This record gives sequence, C-alpha cells and structure tokens, in this order.
Amino acid sequence: MKKAIITGISGQDGYFLSKLLYEKGYEIHGVIRRNSSMSVGNMALLPEKVRESITIHYGDLTDANFFAKLLKDERPDELYHLAAQSFVGYSFQNPSSTYDVNISGTLNVVNAIKDYSPATRMYFAASSEMYGQPETVPQNENTPFKPRSPYAISKLAGFWTTKTYRDAYGLFMSNGISFNHESEVRGPEFVTRKISQAVGRIATGSREPLKLGNLDARKDWGYAQDYVEGMRMMLQHEKPDDFVFGTGELHTVREFATEAFSVAGMRIHWEGKGVDEKGVDEQGNVVVTVDAGLFRPLEADNFLADYSKAKKVLGWKPRTKFKELIKIMVENDMKGKKG
Ligand code: NDP
Ligand code: GDP
Repeated sequence: MKKAIITGISGQDGYFLSKLLYEKGYEIHGVIRRNSSMSVGNMALLPEKVRESITIHYGDLTDANFFAKLLKDERPDELYHLAAQSFVGYSFQNPSSTYDVNISGTLNVVNAIKDYSPATRMYFAASSEMYGQPETVPQNENTPFKPRSPYAISKLAGFWTTKTYRDAYGLFMSNGISFNHESEVRGPEFVTRKISQAVGRIATGSREPLKLGNLDARKDWGYAQDYVEGMRMMLQHEKPDDFVFGTGELHTVREFATEAFSVAGMRIHWEGKGVDEKGVDEQGNVVVTVDAGLFRPLEADNFLADYSKAKKVLGWKPRTKFKELIKIMVENDMKGKKG
C-alpha cells in the first residue's frame, strides 16, 4: 500500500485528490492547520469511509519543525503539496503573508523531504498565473513567466525551488502548472463559485443582483477532478518533470455568467458598457452589475493551456469541458433551494 501526504487536504483539490487516492488504495495522511472551530473544510464533505481512513496531522506550512518531524516519522512514498494562500485578490492586500505561506512554506516542505525522506516523490501546485501577461497564446512548459501579482510571484518562487531541489539534490520533485480549475467545492470568493452560488439564489427568488468585477477577463476553466488525476500521473511517471494542465478553451467571465443563468433556465442579455454594464433577465430585472471595487490592481488573463505534453507523455486529458463544468456547479448550488 502506498502512503501519501496531502498538504491543503481541506481545500478544493485536497477533496478530489483524497477521493482519488482512496480509490487507488493509498494510506492517506493530511495536513490541516488548526482553527478554533476545529473545522476540517472540504474534508467534512468527503464520503464517510474516505474521511475516516485519513490520518490528520495538525500543523502550519510556516512551521519548519512540524514538517521535519512529519517527514521523519512518516516517510511517505508521495507528497502532494497543495496548501497555499491561493486567492490572487487577497495576495494584493496581504503580500507578506502570501509570501510567508507560499514561499517559506514550500521551502519547509522541500527541506524536510531533502533532509529526512529523500525517496519521497513530491508534487508542487504551480499555476498558470505565473505567465502573468503571456507573450504567446496558448502557453506551454516553455512559455516565459512574467508574474503580475504577489500570488503569481510566490508560485514562481515555489516552482523554481522545486526545480532547483530536483536538479541540485536528485530528488523526485515535479511541478504541475495548472490552469484555473473549479468545482462544486470551489471557495466562494472565486468568480466561478461566486456566480454559481448567486445564480442558485437568484433563480430561486432572490432580488439581490450579483456584483462582479472585470467581465472581459478570459480564463481557461476546467473541472478540478480531472486535474488531480494529472497530479497523481505525474508522480507515477518514470522521472520528475513539469507539466501543463488545462482545457485549451478560453472564455470570459461574462460568458461564464450567461451560461450559468441559462443552466438555471434564465436567459440574460447585457446592456451598457464598462462599469455601467448590466446583465438583465427576460423580465427586465437587473441580475448582474459591475462593481469597480472588484477590479484587480493588475489583471492577468488570456491563459490558454497547451497541454499537449501531458497528453503525449502521461496520457492525460481534460474530460469535463466548459458547459458541463458550469452545469455541475450551478445544479449543485440550486440543490435544496427550489421551493
Ligand atoms: P484552496 O484554497 O481550496 O486550498 C488551499 C489549502 O491550503 C486549504 O486546505 C488551506 O487550509 C491550506 N492552507 C492555506 N494556508 C495554510 C497554512 N499556512 N498552513 C497549512 N495549510 C494552509 O486551493 P485549491 O485546492 O483550489 O488549490 C490547490 C493548490 O493548487 C493551491 O496551492 C493553489 O494555489 C494551486 N492552484 C490552484 C488552481 C485552481 O484553479 N484551483 C490553479 C493553479 C494552482 P484552510 O482550509 O485552513 O484554509
Ligand atoms: P484567479 O484566476 O485564480 O484569480 O481566480 P478568480 O476566480 O479569483 O478570478 C478569475 C478572473 O475573474 C480574474 O481575472 C478576475 O479579475 C475576474 N473577476 C471578475 N469579477 C470577479 C469577482 O467578482 N470575483 C473574482 N474573484 N474574480 C472576478
């Protein structure tokens, strides 16, 4: 039986990866940071048999001693390093804590592997945000990185730390450059879940419009369940390497919102321009407005994945495309709300 440690097990990807590793027969250990309510985040939503099979280790990414002891004690076959301050918007408000968690935290993980468990294979959750304002579209493993947010800078530091430790010490450490991936357990502040939750609310009677920022932002959105399969495939590969995961489809926030309302049976159209733009339903009700305060100091978009390397080398491809993803999310957020 293989043993795996997942950092960030209480997050979105931790939820899907736990299910996958359970199905594959792994002994799963998860790192959770303690909070006063002892909440375990998305882990609480796992099927009982999966949840109960997981050994929880309470600890924080910024605690080097915690990771040293964990790796010394457990010596896992695989470690999936998913934990991070993962919200780009927050990283502009709190760059220092983003750097502490994402850069120093990653250093704590790789140092613990190097010093106490060098046979452990590690996955690092890098991000398409590292491309910033991409020079070319689509992007692959050779596209230059030009980060445009504290989050992106921190992920690039993690990416290079992983690569450098691999080359310097001969460790099995790989980077997954994942493009945006979403799901029914995505954090509520991310735009896709914010939209699916608002659609659930508005389609069942709420009069409060959904407030969004940049409707023109374009992203490559996939389903998280597909991406965790790629993560595992990377650690089964014969050698450590870096891979892009995405869908190869680009859509605007406006398109996402239009499709989400349509899943709920509401056809909306758009009126006005810039901050005065509005989404209006067939009865003339305003259901979406633009809030200038939700724009980022610097936008980073046009991330379109060229995942041909992952397809060729690992046999990976995304199984869930744009419309299906939105259907999963909206139907989940409408559950129990129909009167
Ligand atoms: P989430 O935000 O859902 O999960 C992040 C996890 O990290 C949570 O479990 C969180 O715990 C944990 N965490 C945060 N800070 C600390 C800390 N100081 N100590 C210990 N744990 C901590 O992210 P996702 O699951 O969506 O993403 C997984 C990884 O992939 C992240 O690193 C993210 O940056 C990266 N990524 C994600 C993409 C996406 O589109 N989803 C795209 C590209 C990369 P808590 O529950 O306590 O907050
Ligand atoms: P990110 O790609 O990891 O930053 O994921 P987000 O879901 O936070 O943002 C995706 C894109 O949606 C970004 O380009 C944002 O500028 C854009 N966006 C537009 N309106 C909103 C909003 O209300 N909330 C968020 N989070 N993003 C928004």
